[in-house]
Amino acid sequence: MVVDHCEMTYGTISTINQYNTQFTFVSFYSKNSQYLDHCQYCEDCFACSGLKKKRFCIFNQQYSEEEYMRLKAKIVEHMKKTGEWGQFLPPELSPFGYNETVAQEYFPLTGGEVARRGWKWHADTESQTSNYQGPRVSLSVDIKDVPDDMTEKILVCERTGKPYKIIPHELALYRQHRLPLPRVCFDERHLERIRRRNPRKLWTRSCMKCGKSIETTYSPDRPETVYCESCYLKEVY
Ligand SMILES: [Zn+2]
Repeated sequence: MVVDHCEMTYGTISTINQYNTQFTFVSFYSKNSQYLDHCQYCEDCFACSGLKKKRFCIFNQQYSEEEYMRLKAKIVEHMKKTGEWGQFLPPELSPFGYNETVAQEYFPLTGGEVARRGWKWHADTESQTSNYQGPRVSLSVDIKDVPDDMTEKILVCERTGKPYKIIPHELALYRQHRLPLPRVCFDERHLERIRRRNPRKLWTRSCMKCGKSIETTYSPDRPETVYCESCYLKEVY
């Protein structure tokens, strides 16, 4: 998420050179606008998508300055009543399933929980349509026995049954470091890395050196030593 060279912007994601814009997504060089999605060089626009060099537009429709001001004020008034005003673009508008986004990594939900909220869920059909992929490839235990044409084969994840491939650069890296080929697909390896991160949650604990109260992402039942900032800095410098 990049926010650069902006002034009076709030609640925006991926934006450069904007002035007085709020709740925009991937919009650049725009002014005095709200709820823009992939818009560039726009001014006084509201709830528009994919526009360039436009002024006084609402839902991508052109209005006169007077009409724009009147209609925008009416919509904002309505949004204040529904509680939508001041919130970022809602998940209902996302073109992706919740489980395809990083939200699922940080705030995991089940398909049922997502459906109850009225959001999209991506049904994985890859593992069910893998019949065409030919005989199962067996992986050599030792990397030195792996043939070059392994990069042309379709492998099957041992954990999920999803198909995956090894690309030539990847094979070269495994050979260089004498590492065995992965037996689970990319998504599973990614999830393993995510699980090693601390959760997005803070616990109140005491510094294990001076006893001062601190907030930390290390839960109280973890074995690591946890220090307050000043004790930590004294220890490392
Ligand atoms: Zn301390």
